[in-house]
Amino acid sequence: EGVEKYRAISPAEFFYKYREIAGFSNPVRALYQTVRELYENALDATDAHGILPDVKIAIRKVDEIQEYYRVTVEDNGIGLPPDVVPNAFGKVLFSSKYVLKQTRGMYGLGVKMAVLYGQMTTGRPVEVITSKQGFKRIYYFKLRIDVNRNEPVILEKGTWRKTRDWHGTIVSITLEGDWARAKPKIMEYLQRSVVVTPYANIIFITPENEIVYYPRAISILPRPPVEVKPHPFGVDLEMLKQMRDLNTSETVKDLLIKNFQSVGESTATEVLSRAGVDPSKPAGSLSEDELLRIVNAIKGFENLRPPSAKAISPLGREIIVAGLSRMFKPEFVEAVTRRPQVYHGHPFIVEAGVAYGGGTPLGEADKPVILRYANKIPLLYDEGSDVTTFVVKEDINWANYSIVFPAPLVVLVHVCSTKIPFKGVGKESIADVPEIRREIRLALMEVLRKLKIYLVRKAREEEVKRRVVL
Ligand code: ADP
Ligand code: MG
Repeated sequence: EGVEKYRAISPAEFFYKYREIAGFSNPVRALYQTVRELYENALDATDAHGILPDVKIAIRKVDEIQEYYRVTVEDNGIGLPPDVVPNAFGKVLFSSKYVLKQTRGMYGLGVKMAVLYGQMTTGRPVEVITSKQGFKRIYYFKLRIDVNRNEPVILEKGTWRKTRDWHGTIVSITLEGDWARAKPKIMEYLQRSVVVTPYANIIFITPENEIVYYPRAISILPRPPVEVKPHPFGVDLEMLKQMRDLNTSETVKDLLIKNFQSVGESTATEVLSRAGVDPSKPAGSLSEDELLRIVNAIKGFENLRPPSAKAISPLGREIIVAGLSRMFKPEFVEAVTRRPQVYHGHPFIVEAGVAYGGGTPLGEADKPVILRYANKIPLLYDEGSDVTTFVVKEDINWANYSIVFPAPLVVLVHVCSTKIPFKGVGKESIADVPEIRREIRLALMEVLRKLKIYLVRKAREEEVKRRVVL
């Protein structure tokens, strides 16, 4: 009879084994995903902090025989303090983005997956050079991940004085890749990305030494997101217990006021009275039963303000219009930003844009070209299972807008939220959440009405011209 073998594995070992769920399934996807993870970190370190991004991406083939590629991404962002660099790049599930604020990254996984893939295929460590604004020194690290322990191993480190006022980060990862097959995807990814970041300077140097340059087209940034406290809609027992354990000497009333948005004196008092808990009781003395009563009292509370949208950073009409104009040189372009909404307690905003005619590519027989974005990240794969595709195919009556397919039409949909309901950790498609689906439909209808006005007027003018000619 067989003997069961039991053991626990570390997060690093788990993601090393199941790397395909994070998009690292083969050398094609791995090269694409590595570029993406480094590039998205570079943008998070710049635009979310009020810095106009200057980002340089270079891919070099570094071995004569093997398909080894060194991917280097340099940004002018906020940099990292030297003491967090090892964990940021060498400990799976370590992040500065586990806060309530819109960012491209959210799992604390991306760069570590690239580091892991690099070390398992080429044995080369990650190299990081970084300095923060106002720091006098630049720091340099070479490290790899101890997979069994999920800990960084520092192989080399150094520091030198800054001779110019540089701040930012340069990350290099060497991995086995398949450039020939990854190239179209990487190019497409960058093209789609720069549509929503016309305020960035992006330089991409390919292994063939081709230089692809997207110069800054507009010098305004989206309003940076501001971290917020959790909204009581999302409360559960575990959350309250963690708050209690961090603030044991606080009174329970202050605990609620300090840790949640939309909870002030009167709400806290009312919640505690409904829960039958003395407001002046120290948090540390609360039993699990009392905490559960508080959770239920909060959930039953009707008059709370909806979650704050300060944590969300939409692009805004001007940036979308600038991005679409630069990319497609269309004859008509327009965009809308909807008001904040809520799903499952999470605030979100939907934006939509259209480009029509001019250099706009022709869509398919039954739909326009769809550009999907979530928190400013382009989504390329799994289009068929994305909520935006459902809306485009099922919820919009295109004939109403004088559109006959195939049409020279691009529609752009951007969903931003403190929590995007991605269908997988590879972040390729958004789940069909009714509240989000409805907003996407309304955003598209709003922007398509503007296109229709343009098309109707254009048809009328052409009609007049024809009559004049006859
Ligand atoms: P995530 O982006 O989901 O947080 P990553 O593994 O990609 O996870 O990155 C881990 C952390 O390292 C980030 O949360 C960020 O704090 C830091 N980091 C990574 N790249 C950069 C960069 N280019 N500039 C500044 N900080 C960075
Ligand atoms: Mg990241």
